[in-house]
Amino acid sequence: MTNSASPGGTPSGALADLDLTPCPGCGTVAEVSGGFEMPGLDGTERYVRTRCMVGHVFVGPEFALRTGFA
Ligand SMILES: [Zn+2]
Repeated sequence: MTNSASPGGTPSGALADLDLTPCPGCGTVAEVSGGFEMPGLDGTERYVRTRCMVGHVFVGPEFALRTGFA
């Protein structure tokens, strides 16, 4: 009885596709390793967690990544 599971062992429910974004700290490529939603002032805000190649870990609202940090 061979119930073939996926060879890669992709965890179901996890982020399937890898999202890349410029690191807010240094501008190099950062990987979006997670995301969650938090209640904000204007409703639910989406937060993301990124980690760049240098090692900066950023957790913040998604719009901040899109618009960039000043
Ligand atoms: Zn960085």
